Formats: sequence, structure tokens, C-alpha cells
Amino acid sequence: MTAAAAKQPIPLGIPGRGPEEVEESYRFSEMALALIEEHNTPPFPETYAFWYSYASRTSDSLVSAVDRMIEGRSEISRYEMGEIAKAHLPKEDELTRTNERIGKEFSARISDVVDLVRSGASDSNEFQKALDSIGADLPDQITQEGLKKVLARLIEENQHMVERSRALHAGLEKSQEQIAQLSIELDDVRKQSTRDPLTGVANRRSFDAHLEQSIAAALKTGESLCLVMADIDHFKNINDNFGHQVGDDVLKVFAHLIRKNVKGRDLVARYGGEEFAIILPKTEAHSAVKLIDSIREQISQKRLLLRQSREKLGQITASFGVAAYENGISSAEFIEKADVQLYRAKRTGRNKVCLSERSCETISG
Ligand code: GH3
Ligand code: MG
Ligand code: MG
Repeated sequence: MTAAAAKQPIPLGIPGRGPEEVEESYRFSEMALALIEEHNTPPFPETYAFWYSYASRTSDSLVSAVDRMIEGRSEISRYEMGEIAKAHLPKEDELTRTNERIGKEFSARISDVVDLVRSGASDSNEFQKALDSIGADLPDQITQEGLKKVLARLIEENQHMVERSRALHAGLEKSQEQIAQLSIELDDVRKQSTRDPLTGVANRRSFDAHLEQSIAAALKTGESLCLVMADIDHFKNINDNFGHQVGDDVLKVFAHLIRKNVKGRDLVARYGGEEFAIILPKTEAHSAVKLIDSIREQISQKRLLLRQSREKLGQITASFGVAAYENGISSAEFIEKADVQLYRAKRTGRNKVCLSERSCETISG
């Protein structure tokens, strides 16, 4: 479709969309096509989706990231667009589709079970009727011959019932297996929707929810609560020197190391690109600093090698900001408090753990 085609009369009656919404979508579409031309980005479906999201301002953070990217430049690479889309656009489409598929399969399996149980009930009704009729047909004086006939009918009806029960049992067993399999899939989807796919730690959405819960719990119990923001130092250099794939591997190593060092009740989350957040309930500030400084030390001591060439990656360090929860502050203020300390750690030389009103910990370089 060309921009001219987008000016065609607007069709009405698109299900679930009002005429204003349809009209607006044509406007965004025209803007997206103009942006594709202006920035010389080939109109692949994902490129179109990217510029459409920008034109329709679906996400403020996407708009500001794109504005920063296009400032004074016309050509934009697909890699750059991919990076921004990854960081700022929801990636839940596939998950939503899987969820819908599982939901539909569940309904189908449940109606299978209902049908099976219904047919089982009607089978056993028929069996009851057959027995009643055998009973009603019994003569007062039963002869040897008559007894044989009654027995033959009983055996036949019983055989039918056994076969029908066997089929019912097999059908129910199969449905049960399918339902168990669906439950596992559903569980996986649930986990995926709360985890960062690259590092396996909690994603941003799950972090936001968890932080609110942790604050509510701390307010209720009066127990201390700490929040840590962590950011890998000069991470861009790792990507630039060794490639994005190695950068991804470093993120995994860093996330794994943090996770290994914290307790089950603590939450480790990927907050953004190479930034992680750690929620430490029931933890005093001094203990949090001690724990985090040990993590800082461990990462700085790691000697990573490239898998194939065995080339050394050099020292990897990270900076950390720690904040202790103060009654009454919002989650945004709490994050800001930890962030201020993270930037203090960055500003004063990196590879440090900073806590407000205290000098930063730097044990080794
Ligand atoms: P600083 O010490 O100040 O934190 O410097 P930095 O280089 O770590 O920070 P900067 O914000 O300049 O660069 C962060 C880089 O992280 C840029 C971005 O492309 C990269 N990045 C973000 N997400 C990912 C990812 O998922 N994988 C990889 N490989 N790189 C990522
Ligand atoms: Mg960094
Ligand atoms: Mg950063």
C-alpha cells in the first residue's frame, strides 16, 4: 500500500473499532510511511510496526528513545531500531497468543470430559433400565431354561456395560493427560510473563509489582527493606569490542552471580538493558551493603574467556546504589533514591557500592 492508497475512503464497521479510531489509524499509517521514506528504512513489517508505534506514541519511552536516535541523522539501521523496539515495545504478543490457545484447548478438553461423563451417565441409565426389564420379565416359577436365558441376558448387558465403561475410562484418562499437559504449558506461560527471557531473572513488570508488595509488607510489619540498583560498567565497550552475543552472555553471567548470592525471599530483576534491581526484604542497610559489596567483588574477580578463541574479556565491573526504605515514600521515590546512589557510584569512579549519607565502598579495583 502506498501513502496515496491510505487516502482512500475509510471503510466503516471494522469490528471493535470506532470510525474515529479507524480514521486515526490511517493518519498514523501515513506518518509511518513518511518516516520509512525519510529515514530510509526498508518497509519490512517490523519496520512499519516500529514507525507506526512511534507515530501513534504508544509508549513515551519509545518516543523519547527514537527522538534521541534520530536527532540530526536521517539514516537509521535496523539493528538500532531492533534495540529500541526490544527495550520499549511490549513483547507479549506471542505470549498472549499462547495463552489464548491454551485457554481454548482447556475449554475443548473440559467439554470433552463433560460429554464423556454425560454419556457415562446415560450408559449407566440404560444398564439400569436393562436390569429393570430383566427383573420385570422374570416369571414367578423360573425353569432351568428360563434361568439360562436370564443369565445370558445379564451376561450380555454386563458385557456391554463393561465395554462402555472401559471406553469411558480410557476417554477420561486421555482428557486428564491432556489437561495435565495444558496445566504445565499454562504454568510455563505464567513464568515467561514474569521473567526476562535472556537472563531468567524477574522482568520489569514483575519487579514493579513485587516492589509495591514489599513496601506494603514493610509498612505493615515495620521491618527494614532495601533496594539496590546495579549497572554494568562500560558495558557498551563489551558489545563494541566483542559483539552483541558476548554482551548477552555477560548479562547472563552477571544475573546468575547476583541470584546465586541472594536468598529465596529476595527478588532479582532486569530493570533495563544492562541494569538490574534487587529487592532485599528484612535487610538492614549495612547488611545490604556488605552483601552487595561481596557481589561487586566477585564480578570484578571473574575472568571470562571467549568460548571459541579463549580470548580474555578483561575485567568486568559494576556499580551499585543501595537505598533503605523510609516510611511513607512511594516506590518511584524509593527507586530514585537507589538510582541517585548508583549515579554517585558511577560519577566517583565506578566498581563501587554507594549508600546515602555514607562514603561508598570500594574494596578492590
Ligand atoms: P556506564 O558505565 O556509564 O554504565 O556505561 P555503559 O557503556 O555501560 O552504558 P551505556 O548506557 O552507554 O550503554 C549501555 C549499552 O548496553 C548500550 C546498549 O546497546 C547495551 N545493551 C542494552 N541491552 C542490551 C542487551 O540486551 N544485550 C546487549 N548485548 N547489549 C545491550
Ligand atoms: Mg552501564
Ligand atoms: Mg545503564
